[in-house]
Amino acid sequence: MIRFFRCVNCGLEYPVNINHLRCECGAPFELVHDCVFLKSEVDKEVRSIWRYRKAIPVEKDGSIVTLGEGFTPILPLSYKGYNIWVKLEYVSPTGSFKDRGASVLFSFLREIGVKNIVEDSSGNAGVSVSAYGARAGIECEIFCPEYTSGGKLIQISLYGAKLVKVKGSREDTSKAAVKAAQTKYYASHNWHPFFIEGLKTLSFEIVEQLNWNVPDNIVLPLGFGGLYYSLYLGFKQLLRDGIVCKIPRLFGVQSEMCCPLYEAFVTNGGVNPEYVQRGETIAEGICGAKPVFWKQIIGAVRETGGSIVTVSDREIEESLKVLLRQGFLVEPTSAVVIKGMEKFVEIRAIKSSEKTLLILTGSGLKTLDRLEEIFYKRHGL
Ligand SMILES: [Zn+2]
Repeated sequence: MIRFFRCVNCGLEYPVNINHLRCECGAPFELVHDCVFLKSEVDKEVRSIWRYRKAIPVEKDGSIVTLGEGFTPILPLSYKGYNIWVKLEYVSPTGSFKDRGASVLFSFLREIGVKNIVEDSSGNAGVSVSAYGARAGIECEIFCPEYTSGGKLIQISLYGAKLVKVKGSREDTSKAAVKAAQTKYYASHNWHPFFIEGLKTLSFEIVEQLNWNVPDNIVLPLGFGGLYYSLYLGFKQLLRDGIVCKIPRLFGVQSEMCCPLYEAFVTNGGVNPEYVQRGETIAEGICGAKPVFWKQIIGAVRETGGSIVTVSDREIEESLKVLLRQGFLVEPTSAVVIKGMEKFVEIRAIKSSEKTLLILTGSGLKTLDRLEEIFYKRHGL
């Protein structure tokens, strides 16, 4: 199997077993490999991402680390007469889509013999990494912002990872982890190409579940942009391998308190390197002030004909209610897609009759403390 890392900026190539995740020019890596997606090779007996085993660049079957991730349902949602469907990514082993990335990343880490890692996360990725670390027998040290929902922090500790709570912003947490990574392997879900590779299976699954077709549009929460970038790469691969004949339009929704990608998109410029989060938000999962693959994401928004909007906390609360009234218990971050969808229809980026898939990324069971605060303490309901 051919696999190597390539700098997305200068094109310099590196072997996959190096212990750093950025090029000497400072830019992130992409993974280049020669796995091809063939419909005939989908293993229909396997009800997880590993049904696409032949398309996943892990060399040895023996190193696969799985908890049965992926294979999540797609259901219709009724809202304002729109033609919308929801992909229940929160129906995952640890309660979020990040399990796809963690499964492939830890399979790779086991393959190259890594024994302990450092990771930083606003919550969900830290939870996933802790669970897959436990499954793989790899020790994990997870750095989280102090404001992370209590449920997620407890979950990380329960899996046996060492939890380090960091005061300050999400950015301060990243810095603390990078410092700790000087002596350990840095398994950052935002930077690691194998994590991205795992998330790509979401595009494979959407296409297979829609009988080898693509929806017109996909709307998803947008923070650091890992999911957005991965979906784009996954659909690109399916297009290259002749499985689909177009890429769906990809739409991202940011919190108005932290929206560097939105600003880069509407101003036609770069991400402001000095961008600081404007204030607190209940959308803790999408507070990424310095998105790693921002250039690639802005390029993908333009290439697919997508767009980016922002929503307020008040709008997120309304969105949560819409979902809850139909039985979907998601975390506040995931709910951004409802109001986001409405705004895309208002600006005529999406027609209400078009088939649009919303990705529900994380479970509300992890953020019950926050939901209680929103609906019972703040509003006295
Ligand atoms: Zn470079």
